Amino acid sequence: MAESQHYVFESVLLGHLPDDARKAFWKHVSGLEPWKHHPVINQGSWERLVGIHIHDDGCEFYKEDEYFVWSWSSIFATAGSIKDVLMFRFPIAVIPERWMRTASVRDEVHKKIAELTAWSMEYAGRGTWPQTGFEGEEFHPKTTRFKRKGSELAKGWRACLFAFKADLKARHQMHKLKRWYKCNEFCDRCLALQGDNCPSELDYRNVGPSAAWNLTTITDETYRVLDRGSLSPWAQVPGFHFLTISHDWLHHVYLGTARDLCASGILVLIQHGRFTAEAQGASDMEEILASVHASMRKTCTEHGLYLPAKPCLTSANLGFNDGFAELGTRYKASHVKLIVWWLARETQQFADQNPQEPVLNVLATCCYSLQRVIELMDTSGFIFSVAEASEACESLKTHLKTYMWLAWYSYSRCLLLFKVRCKTHYNFHVADDIKATRLNPAMFQNFDEESFLGKLKHIGIRCHGATCVQRMFMRYLLCLAMFVREFSKKANHME
Ligand SMILES: [Zn+2]
Repeated sequence: MAESQHYVFESVLLGHLPDDARKAFWKHVSGLEPWKHHPVINQGSWERLVGIHIHDDGCEFYKEDEYFVWSWSSIFATAGSIKDVLMFRFPIAVIPERWMRTASVRDEVHKKIAELTAWSMEYAGRGTWPQTGFEGEEFHPKTTRFKRKGSELAKGWRACLFAFKADLKARHQMHKLKRWYKCNEFCDRCLALQGDNCPSELDYRNVGPSAAWNLTTITDETYRVLDRGSLSPWAQVPGFHFLTISHDWLHHVYLGTARDLCASGILVLIQHGRFTAEAQGASDMEEILASVHASMRKTCTEHGLYLPAKPCLTSANLGFNDGFAELGTRYKASHVKLIVWWLARETQQFADQNPQEPVLNVLATCCYSLQRVIELMDTSGFIFSVAEASEACESLKTHLKTYMWLAWYSYSRCLLLFKVRCKTHYNFHVADDIKATRLNPAMFQNFDEESFLGKLKHIGIRCHGATCVQRMFMRYLLCLAMFVREFSKKANHME
């Protein structure tokens, strides 16, 4: 049993990484801007230090009844052999939105959760039991907390805040960001503007030589000046730095810009004759799209990848009939990732056959460079090598600039393709972050977090809405206990 507990600890908190690898990670991180003044990381003794990702997001448990979920996991957990997210990500709090109907209540709740987490992180960073409770209350002499107060918490192990993860809406709610995607000043990382009347120098769609938004980077110092009086409630967590509020590749790319790229790219291929009605044995656009979908699935299967039969490519699913081309919301991030991979192959082959067609060649470069970044993210560890970081940054910028060219090309021909959105701009900051930190953006993408919310919802919907919060935690703890027990049985059986 002790052996299997040790194994769970090694996987869930350390990702089975050896001491040297974790020390090298902390050594690299301690030299980076967001963490170089971190009070816990800079205390040394990196062998027994665990970094924490804090995530929050809303999740609709019942129809029109959303719950806000705060949770945490070790930054190393994804490298471990335990892949069930319910075993390596842990809830901090779950609160129904209907309990936070007014802005002041919501602000107060977020503040309180941040204060509680800050208090916990303070002692996790010290590695000792607290002297008093969260509210400063004395412990009762008969409790374990009284006996342990001030003593070592977990055999010298310490934990510290590493980064915050969230999608754009939750990121705004969590950190009370003044500049977010619904405002004209929509970027918290620079002074770029959106809207029809903004000066062209600060217009985020301007990536030419006259662009000035890229000279207005907001640092931790400028954030603390610009937003003084309304800093993030999480600023009190030891190690908070403005740049620890990370960007999420999953929502920015797979559920964001890549959906525009895939739908627009497929239409450009069809318009240029890659898939004709005669060749596909089709009589109309819907049949052409169905045959493209079949060929896409076949190519995926040949490479050992699975793309489901549904949602099928249709005009409606690609947004051809209404506004800009865009994959519908039924497409999951994993589907979009496969379609990007397929599109990069198709566009490259077709561009090779049509070297005289600029739009096909730019599209091929746009897709290839994005696919290359994804490959680097999937095949590298937490830290990119210098060459990998340089390639990932340059590839992402090439992707973004070629995408902007395709957007301009389409716009000037009145084609509703290659929509440019805020997320396109945020990806420029992701590219700059890769170069500045060499950290793999895969560390900050919210795949596991989304899956965690799905599993929590699965537990929650089995309970009655009125008592859901309490019952869900009881059921969650039962689930966790069963997982650990099953795991221990298996581990003991294998010994
Ligand atoms: Zn910006």
